[in-house]
Amino acid sequence: MSSENGTTPTNFIRNIIIKDLESGKHDRIITRFPPEPNGHLHIGHAKSICLNFGVAAEFGGRTNLRFDDTNPLKENEDFMRAIMDDVRWLGFEWDELLHASDYFHQLYDYALHLIKTGKAYVEELTAEEIRAHRGTLTEPGRESPYRDRPVEENLDLFERMKAGEFADGTLALRARIDMTSPNMNMRDPVVYRIRNASHHRTGDEWHIYPMYDWAHGISDAIEGITHSLCTLEFEDHRPLYDWFLDNIPTPCHPRQIEFARGNLDYTVMSKRRLRELVEEGLVNGWDDPRMPTLAGLRRRGFTPEAIRAFWTEMGVSKADSIIPMGVLENAVRNDLNVRAPRTMAVLDPLKVILTNYPEGETEWLEAPVHPQNEAMGTRKVALTHEIWIERGDFMEEPPRKFFRMRPGGEVRLRNAFIVQCNEVIKDEKGEVTELHCTFDPDTRSGMPGASRKVKGTIHWVSAEHGQPAEIRLCDRLFTVPNPLGEKDHDYREFLNPHSLDVIQHAIVEPQVANGEAGDFYQFERTGYFCHDNVDSKPGRPVLNRIVTLRDSWARIEKEMAQNQS
Ligand code: ATP
Ligand code: MG
Repeated sequence: MSSENGTTPTNFIRNIIIKDLESGKHDRIITRFPPEPNGHLHIGHAKSICLNFGVAAEFGGRTNLRFDDTNPLKENEDFMRAIMDDVRWLGFEWDELLHASDYFHQLYDYALHLIKTGKAYVEELTAEEIRAHRGTLTEPGRESPYRDRPVEENLDLFERMKAGEFADGTLALRARIDMTSPNMNMRDPVVYRIRNASHHRTGDEWHIYPMYDWAHGISDAIEGITHSLCTLEFEDHRPLYDWFLDNIPTPCHPRQIEFARGNLDYTVMSKRRLRELVEEGLVNGWDDPRMPTLAGLRRRGFTPEAIRAFWTEMGVSKADSIIPMGVLENAVRNDLNVRAPRTMAVLDPLKVILTNYPEGETEWLEAPVHPQNEAMGTRKVALTHEIWIERGDFMEEPPRKFFRMRPGGEVRLRNAFIVQCNEVIKDEKGEVTELHCTFDPDTRSGMPGASRKVKGTIHWVSAEHGQPAEIRLCDRLFTVPNPLGEKDHDYREFLNPHSLDVIQHAIVEPQVANGEAGDFYQFERTGYFCHDNVDSKPGRPVLNRIVTLRDSWARIEKEMAQNQS
């Protein structure tokens, strides 16, 4: 689906907003992105960020970043800082930085209003008893014996809860709605609980903390949010969202609209699971390049441009789906293909001696930085008597369709000329240690034979100028598409033992060795790589593979299918 101008894909939320602007219901829209600061953001959150910031920007509106910081036990400042970094890295800037905790006083006053109007009461049942009274989807709940407590008593108890007179879990404030409602959320939900805990922003001021549903809608209303966009699991909470706002005098009543979560296969995307992976040491932190967190993807080398393009392309709907990881990887490839400078690197080096090239000499060949984009200029590639090629590009007894280096065969060295393999040197174990080749000067760039065709072209790096590098080959974190959905299994059982393969002795061109954190390249014929933003140091390069050049998983799956038929 595309809009009239054909550039911005439209969706049902965008259409609602267009209608609300045209009808004059709003002159300007305000959205918010409301993370709980209890973990790092993941690629799914990016969908919500792109949607909230994107749609507001498109229609000249505003977007707040609001921390829903109502649970002091799980939240902290480090997570807040990391979330801000991630939102900015994705390319968005909020109009206001706000916190649900900024509204604790207002939230409290609104709770007093509910009590005074007979719509809230202080509960003395324990959490367990409350649960037992709640009923089920097929049975109505039972009313609490404390439900009809007089207003004065409720006010007194609630104030004393606030003052810290009671222990955690002893009392709670509940909205007085309807214990027989078919919607469980409407069966007198808890609005405040006692937590004698200190909060990272309000310190020891509070002994009671608002529940998410209470804080969320009111925060939206205080900020004048016009469209409160959230994921589908909140659909059943919408009647409660509306009930709260209908029963207290807030300045406005935002409209909650739900959309489907973004899901990817071969990973897990709940903060709880991601935290487990980190805390149990199953990955190397929140920013492990195999993690679906924005910090991990950034470290891996995924670009914000690619992630934004991916979510734009995926669109927004109410239908739940799981997107193949290959689709995200393709978005990354499409972006990097256009922008990544080309260079050559050898991951598994095999020495080649060019016997007719003088020893001790270096010639600096010119090669394009990007074959399709002249504006990116040229780069220098060192040519010397000894070079490295990829071990896998040589076979002593090759099968029929192997067009790379073989004894007696010819192959083109990328950006250079055609060479012929004359001699294969082996050690006492019979392992190939060196190839002796001659080059054909007539096939150099600018020479008459420059366009002579041979079937194979391979990449290489000068042995004298090439620099050692550590290369980390990241693969999918799990071996099954839906690790959380395998019956009778723990998702940890499906961690991919080969998700991180470290190559200690790869060889890169000198300019790559001196690159900086975040610099990315296409290693010709191999894939896209970027300097690890934690471990890579000038002169001691560490690079992560961002993605391969082609979708190797798709190829493997296709080959498996072919072998079966
Ligand atoms: P998780 O369930 O992954 O632990 P969460 O929903 O608890 O995440 P929040 O910090 O509450 O995390 O999320 C902030 C916002 O991001 C919410 O509006 C939420 O609906 C949205 N969001 C979270 N996960 C996704 C997702 N996979 N796709 C789209 N939006 C998401
Ligand atoms: Mg949440």
